Amino acid sequence: MNFKSDQSEIQDYLNDAANFKGKCERVYLPESVDDIVKIVKSANSNRKKITVCGARTGLTGGAVPQEGLVLSTEKLNKIIKISSEEKFAVVQPGVFLSELNEKLSELNLYYPPDPTEQNCFIGGTIATNASGAKTFKYGPTRNFVQELSIILPDGEMLNLKRGEVNAKNYILSLKTESNNVIEIGLPKITMPKTKHSAGYYITENMDAIDLFIGMEGTLGIITEIKLALIKKPAKIISMVIFFKTESEALQFVKIVRDLSKKYPGATDKINARGIEFFDKNSFKFVKGSPGLIPKNTGAAIWIEQETTTKSQDAILEEWITLMETNNINVDESWIALSEKERKEFEYFRHSVPSQVNEYISRNNFRKVGTDTAVPDNKLEEYYNYCKQTAENSGIDYVIYGHIGNSHIHLNFILKSQQEYEPAKQLYKQMCIKAVELGGTVSAEHGIGKMKREYLVDMFGEEIVKEMAAIKKTLDPKLILNIGNIFDPGIFN
Ligand SMILES: Cc1cc2nc3c(=O)[nH]c(=O)nc-3n(C[C@H](O)[C@H](O)[C@H](O)COP(=O)(O)OP(=O)(O)OC[C@H]3O[C@@H](n4cnc5c(N)ncnc54)[C@H](O)[C@@H]3O)c2cc1C
Repeated sequence: MNFKSDQSEIQDYLNDAANFKGKCERVYLPESVDDIVKIVKSANSNRKKITVCGARTGLTGGAVPQEGLVLSTEKLNKIIKISSEEKFAVVQPGVFLSELNEKLSELNLYYPPDPTEQNCFIGGTIATNASGAKTFKYGPTRNFVQELSIILPDGEMLNLKRGEVNAKNYILSLKTESNNVIEIGLPKITMPKTKHSAGYYITENMDAIDLFIGMEGTLGIITEIKLALIKKPAKIISMVIFFKTESEALQFVKIVRDLSKKYPGATDKINARGIEFFDKNSFKFVKGSPGLIPKNTGAAIWIEQETTTKSQDAILEEWITLMETNNINVDESWIALSEKERKEFEYFRHSVPSQVNEYISRNNFRKVGTDTAVPDNKLEEYYNYCKQTAENSGIDYVIYGHIGNSHIHLNFILKSQQEYEPAKQLYKQMCIKAVELGGTVSAEHGIGKMKREYLVDMFGEEIVKEMAAIKKTLDPKLILNIGNIFDPGIFN
């Protein structure tokens, strides 16, 4: 079996995009499901820890090992089938999102989940229930997962099809390929009514497949995925709009959000598919600015809308009227007139987190960045709280993110290692505040190894213990992705 054990060869597997660092003895590169079963069975009988990794673009240390073995899915990289007629794709976990998107585009198909970073694997996006700009219109990755094949920590295979197995009164009964039945008791939790990716997804009569989406590799290794697709939108209007103050930007977000929710499927009425935010500090990190950022800009938003060739001009007119009615200087706004320009705006938005991550990695800091979301009616209160907290601290910061979903990333820009602990304390306060307002401590990145204490802040110790009991049922020898979601001490 293909593996690497020379420390010089395995360095790349020992950190992720948050610059969380780890160690391991050996990295396996399985090329088939049988290879994975062999590795898992052997690790299970020898009680060796395994950490699964995708492309390691994660931001919470989830793919970073602390000991034992790494199982990389990079060689499980086949697009098995794409059906244009039935609009689905079947892929292995190590397929790059960018590669899938390119293939789909050629076939006039589209897969909406878009976690900003395109160099991630589909398996990683399922394991974290990733989201992105288009989640405003389409929801998270979960909404597009139809079937999963999973190797459980004892080497058994589990195949799940959406709609086939549901919990009854918080009890899930799973049947493996060899007909073993596993009963899982689910904690009675209330999940926030926001985008949410913290801990396991649990509802009273939930679909079994949803437990495995966003489980961060703690319950099994995803080996095959069937994804729902849609038809590629014919035209996309893209705009970057500048505001003097953040408050004006937030007011406009509210207006666009309300209008878009009135006509959810429409391509001939105002209906954004994504509403993204930049504070003025973010502009220090953007790369490849496609236009002039007006002087005295306090904030900006990037909006995209899907439309048709027929409706395109009329819809653009509607947007311009909406901007004018809200005292926005249309001449200073950027409006993409070609697909090339649209891509430049996209790159402009995406460059903020990648440049922040690059700064953090270059200076060898660990990332301190929120991934919190709150109910829409609490956004302004939460935004002002986070901004004020960061301002008062004197530590540099940027705020950007998926404002359409009331989901913001406040990233501290540390100047020295001394600022790390104080920034972490402030980060914790922001998580607690998000929970107080009915939100979540993680809307899309997951908990991994860096955010475990905030899951406890959100659900309390008892519920987190009940979640950990789900893992213990499926992984009694505690070999898979130990340290993700739960502090290992919880199993003692
Ligand atoms: C610049 C930048 C911007 C980003 N923006 C966003 C964003 O907007 N939205 C968002 O959601 N995320 C964002 N991310 C985070 C990241 O891209 C996503 O979390 C991505 O989904 C992780 O995919 P990956 O293949 O890199 O997974 P990895 O980082 O390798 O792994 C992530 C987790 O999934 C587990 N895992 C991976 N593959 C499997 C498998 N086959 N079976 C079981 N478990 C598995 C790992 O153990 C780990 O816990 C961003 C990252 C960067 C660097």
